[in-house]
Amino acid sequence: MSARAYFDWNATAPLRDEARTAMVAALDVPGAAASVHSEGRGARALVEKARSQVAALVGAEAKNVIFTSGATEANMLALTPDLVVLGKPFTCGRLFVSAVEHASVLSGGRFAADQVQRLPVTADGIVDLAALRAALVHAERPLVSVMHANNETGVIQPIAEISGIVHEAGGVLHVDAAQTAGRIACDMAALAADMLTVSSHKIGGPQGAGTLIMRGVQPAAALIKGGGQERGFRAGTENVAAIAGFGAAAEAAARSRETAATRMAGLRDMFEARLKDEVLGTVIFGAGVPRLPNTSLVAVPGLKAETALIAFDLNGIAVSSGSACSSGKVGASHVLAAMGVAPALAAGAIRVSLGWSTTEAEVESLLNAWKKVAASLLKRHAQAA
Ligand code: PMP
Repeated sequence: MSARAYFDWNATAPLRDEARTAMVAALDVPGAAASVHSEGRGARALVEKARSQVAALVGAEAKNVIFTSGATEANMLALTPDLVVLGKPFTCGRLFVSAVEHASVLSGGRFAADQVQRLPVTADGIVDLAALRAALVHAERPLVSVMHANNETGVIQPIAEISGIVHEAGGVLHVDAAQTAGRIACDMAALAADMLTVSSHKIGGPQGAGTLIMRGVQPAAALIKGGGQERGFRAGTENVAAIAGFGAAAEAAARSRETAATRMAGLRDMFEARLKDEVLGTVIFGAGVPRLPNTSLVAVPGLKAETALIAFDLNGIAVSSGSACSSGKVGASHVLAAMGVAPALAAGAIRVSLGWSTTEAEVESLLNAWKKVAASLLKRHAQAA
């Protein structure tokens, strides 16, 4: 079998060498990070090093980094009606989330279902700022959660502007930066985010680690209760090896971010230009607004993503459809639905996401496979019609 090409970096990235090295070393440290003896202090040192590395990635203070099992848990921890703002209790009456959020945010965390309100997005997938302003007019102490960039389209939200609106309304802003930290500039202060979620495995750290980073705002109570680990915000013995790998990945991502972004944007633009030229009717979602440098969500009218994914896989290409990164099943994309994309076109949406090691040769093989798959499937669909 010829070499495979991986274009599903928004679902998960391969482990970075730096992360692997840090993890293997950490596995040999025998202590628990909470123990006072020398072994425990050895483990604690690794956790604290990673805390500084992750904080540096987003310009935060290390003490405000709370390690969790991933972005999903970090989102759950953040989305609670009971917050503490600048040391004072702050009870939120309502949670506002954009309609294109990750499922973990759409779930509403610890809010009751009737306290959660979805905010519409424009046809480009950007949060409708007028609708946000209108929604907040009568909201008392709102918590708003908007992702920095969308995992399906790569569309980047105007977070600093959103933050201004939320703060003016006396609210708090949580930002899910799972797709942006380590990929584009993601400075917590510049974004003016009060709480920020980051995931380890999107930046080349191991799966099963993440963080909620706080900036003057914190959840009043832990989501996972028990021991006093992570300053009481997240009980349970720290996963030292995963955290060490996360930290090493954060440092490596920060170091290579700008070069990698330029490279990926060049390859992505080449892919999109060639696809538009060579495959008739290609639609690229969110193409007119700021997007992540590595993401392309593409549809070819008449092509069904569910059959195309299998055909790509048989041709050695790993791509994904819409939001199928977790379940493996192909469902309608809530993101494209929120953008007002017709269901028939949305059913053909295929996500191509690149990473720091993607090569031009891999993009060439993707384009070749695309032409082959589109030609054969469109013919088959036409015959069946
Ligand atoms: N938020 C976004 C925007 C994501 O893309 C993902 C991963 N698909 C998550 C949250 C969940 O991340 P994790 O796998 O670390 O729980």
